Amino acid sequence: MSGRDRAQRLLLPESLDEYVGPDNPVRFIDAFVGELDLAAAGFARVTAKATGRPGYSPPDLLKLYIYGYLNRVRSSRRLEAETHRNIEVIWLLRHLKPDFKTIADFRRDNSKAFRPIFRQFVLLCRQLDLFGRELLAVDGTRIKAVNNKDRNFTRASLSEFIRLADAKLEDYLRRLDQSDAAESPAGGARVQNLAEKIAAIGARRTRCSQMLAELDKTGENQISLTDPDSRAMAAHTHVAVGYNIQVAVDAKHKLIVEQQVTNQVVDMGLLTQTAAPAKEVLGVEKIAVVADRGYFKIEDIEACEAAGIEPYVPRPQRGPSVKAGLFRKDEFRYDPAGDSFLCPAGQQLQAYSSSFVRALKKVNYANKPACRDCALRPLCTGSTFRMVSRLENEAVLDRMQARLAQRPEILDRRRETVEHPFGTIKQWMNQGAFLMRGLEKVRAEFSLTALAYNLRRVLNIVGFTGLMAALRA
Ligand code: SF4
Repeated sequence: MSGRDRAQRLLLPESLDEYVGPDNPVRFIDAFVGELDLAAAGFARVTAKATGRPGYSPPDLLKLYIYGYLNRVRSSRRLEAETHRNIEVIWLLRHLKPDFKTIADFRRDNSKAFRPIFRQFVLLCRQLDLFGRELLAVDGTRIKAVNNKDRNFTRASLSEFIRLADAKLEDYLRRLDQSDAAESPAGGARVQNLAEKIAAIGARRTRCSQMLAELDKTGENQISLTDPDSRAMAAHTHVAVGYNIQVAVDAKHKLIVEQQVTNQVVDMGLLTQTAAPAKEVLGVEKIAVVADRGYFKIEDIEACEAAGIEPYVPRPQRGPSVKAGLFRKDEFRYDPAGDSFLCPAGQQLQAYSSSFVRALKKVNYANKPACRDCALRPLCTGSTFRMVSRLENEAVLDRMQARLAQRPEILDRRRETVEHPFGTIKQWMNQGAFLMRGLEKVRAEFSLTALAYNLRRVLNIVGFTGLMAALRA
């Protein structure tokens, strides 16, 4: 294949519009943004000022961003380049060529307005009846922030550095005293060298002390220097500095109904706050939500039930008895009528003592005389008797356990449902790291990412024609 002669005369289409196919997704982006009330969404400068040079209009810049996120082009400099060379972008922006600073400022200045746009597209999906509205899967993932691990410090790492610095300083000062005493001809250079090391370590120690004081003031546990809002968090076995992305995904077509970005390092406690807005946007009275063990928190499970959400979260197997390979708590059966536990040896454990966990009353159950003579004791406790505890509102967990026993397959559905968006976003869309700094701006970025994911998916499900028809309905 040798291609065509570059100098050969061609009969090109007469208008730019003819270069863009009739079912090109870029036409949907144009029409979708055209229908939006951007002022209501919170975009600034939607109405041009009567005076001064007119700027680029928010709809044009929003179209550029949606197109960019859909096509793996997210940086303002690359988006600017596309306005010069990409025929779809030239069509979309009607030959407008904003510079990268204008493009970047638009995303930064309107960071809060992208979330309502994501929500508008979810409503369009609902209009297309793309949600099953019976099961949501909630999950979280970490997306890397613009903050290297070396620029993140925890209380523990700062305290450890100060401890080591003090030991080193003591050693250097001792050696400095010795050098002074010896006063050898070579001593001058060595003293100078030691003095420099002492000054360098002293300066870093002061910086660490300041950071520790800052943590005491804010009550935080870690500090990030490049992006102060980001946090070091674990994902599987690896720790990196990033943000915690929470999504609620409808099981029918794996579309994202709700998305949130936080810098909370664990998922625990985030179930209701992710699932409740999703339920609201789906407009249902009741809905089931499934999540992994990381979300197991009694207060959150209770809050879900109160909000009309039926939670399915497996109980994590943790605690000293599990670690020691002794009888697990779920091998003790609670009897609500008698307010007692039946242990594996068939003995009844009665209320013995109580304490508080967070704001919840915890009752401990035991039967000392039965344990004393029990043949199963080596399998049950390393102590003279076994104690089993129960929180005051633990009936909510019993109900959830009963539901899980009836629908065990729901846990597999969870995995299939949430793996798709996270896998697609990180691998196919290449959006495994944020470009911007700060929680608000990162939220804007993820709203665009989630919108692009949903848009790509809906195009695959109903096609361009179906999507356009919904817009016109
Ligand atoms: S040690 Fe106590 S609680 Fe454990 S099985 Fe024996 S009687 Fe039951």
